[in-house]
Amino acid sequence: MKFEKEINRRKTFAIISHPDAGKTTLTEKLLLFGGAIQVAGAVKSNKIKKHATSDFMEIERQRGISVATSVMTFEYKDTLINLLDTPGHKDFAEDTYRTLTAVDSVILVIDSVNGVEAQTRRLMEVCRMRDTPVIVFINKMDRDGKNRFDLLEEIEKELHISLHPMTWPINSGKEFKGVYNIDNKSLRLFTASTKAEEDDVIGISDLNDATLDAMVGDRDAAQLREDVELIDGVYGELKVDDYLSGRIAPVFFGSAVNNFGVKEMLDTFIRIAPVPRSRETSKRTVDVGEDQFSGFIFKIHANLDPKHRDRIAFMRVCSGRFERNKYYHHVRLDRDVRFSNPYSFMARSKDIIDDAYAGDVVGLFDTGNFKIGDTLTEGEDFYFSGIPTFSPEIFKELVNKDPMKTKQLEKGVSQLTDEGVAQLFTQFGGNKKIIGCVGELQFEVIQYRLLQEYGAAAEFRPLPFYKACWLTSEDPKKLDDFLRFKQQNSAEDKDGHPVYLAQSEWFLNTEITNNPDIKFHFTSEIH
Ligand code: GDP
Repeated sequence: MKFEKEINRRKTFAIISHPDAGKTTLTEKLLLFGGAIQVAGAVKSNKIKKHATSDFMEIERQRGISVATSVMTFEYKDTLINLLDTPGHKDFAEDTYRTLTAVDSVILVIDSVNGVEAQTRRLMEVCRMRDTPVIVFINKMDRDGKNRFDLLEEIEKELHISLHPMTWPINSGKEFKGVYNIDNKSLRLFTASTKAEEDDVIGISDLNDATLDAMVGDRDAAQLREDVELIDGVYGELKVDDYLSGRIAPVFFGSAVNNFGVKEMLDTFIRIAPVPRSRETSKRTVDVGEDQFSGFIFKIHANLDPKHRDRIAFMRVCSGRFERNKYYHHVRLDRDVRFSNPYSFMARSKDIIDDAYAGDVVGLFDTGNFKIGDTLTEGEDFYFSGIPTFSPEIFKELVNKDPMKTKQLEKGVSQLTDEGVAQLFTQFGGNKKIIGCVGELQFEVIQYRLLQEYGAAAEFRPLPFYKACWLTSEDPKKLDDFLRFKQQNSAEDKDGHPVYLAQSEWFLNTEITNNPDIKFHFTSEIH
């Protein structure tokens, strides 16, 4: 392999969590270990606090922060780590789902008090679809959380994944004394630390070592022995292959805000987390070690300043070497393009880079040539597979308030949907334009941006749909008949694929039962 050394030192991952579980805090601690930042408090949360807000300055501010923290690259023990940020707010969940197509593994943060929460479930569904390897960090052990065995059971049951504890906590809340590292049989006593220093780790050759009793007291020592015996019996040794195939998730306990238990996880992460791997395309498997460059766009970030309608397209490099100022083949446009100022992201500053390798994420300056899912190659025509579009959850009719600006509106909607801000459907009967989003907040963002960036005035009228299903059938006539018969509920998506818009679960299930020759898909692949 030509670029073997570069590829094998890269680990590209995302931290996912329900808002407030501690993603931002953990990110900051990881960056401290990598020396990418010196002081705690330097990483800003990109979450949008208010649920639905008309304060667009706030949205702009938040988006500004999130572009700066979209990708954080740092080195730790010779490993080059690309940490991709994901928006915490559920209204931007689609952005997160797509970011997950660009990573090789994830760290899932769970709040020990709240356990599995709504966003955790949905994010894990996406990980399971792709068999993404997952490491679980159970956070906030300094608070009185759930019983840890119950918590493990809850996570396994709710997230449909098998767990494997790597560390084990001694109590929680005020009584939290530390974690025992099952793997290397050492004890780390709980201290709050905001710096990235090697804490004292106490090696215990044997759990029966009296040092343990002296350190944590007889009662807790006895409990730990009992727990660990139970865990050893149930879990045995972690098989790294089971982790890599997404079947088993190693679990760590800690407290991100106290930088406790984080290093154990990071050390294991750099040891076992996958390096970039080969990827499927519409034509063939692209081997990560191929000499020829290939990559795809998974996220587009617009500049909300109306005077600069430029965007940054985020590209994940999948093979070969990407070079500045070299011409590459834009598969969809069938055109050669080159980039004079590709960005890499070292923590909070953007740097222009000369080259990048598989696993890296590069920010490309874009004036409207990119759509989510676009592929760049050195000439070959293919698309990377498995970049999903999910059904929106809120549907509204797009109403043009200014007929003089119809062209602008169309252009705006087309570009915003290319960016993945929303999905556009055109109803078969009546030709209504329907915008589908994951959250209310996105409608406000769209309305605001259409006006500011395109001068188009739009309004939205609620529609009674709850889900979009993409339809396929081996029998084109049956599909045609269905679409015609269900005109009010039928639409095509932006690429002309037929879609059924369901009013309720009951209607959807009825249609699925009544139409065995038609397949209803809950996600659609962009390619
Ligand atoms: P995010 O929404 O997942 O990014 O969560 P944040 O990192 O912003 O954390 C949410 C809140 O939890 C903040 O007030 C943090 O200070 C707090 N927090 C994070 N980690 C811990 C922890 O280990 N223990 C406690 N008690 N609080 C924590």
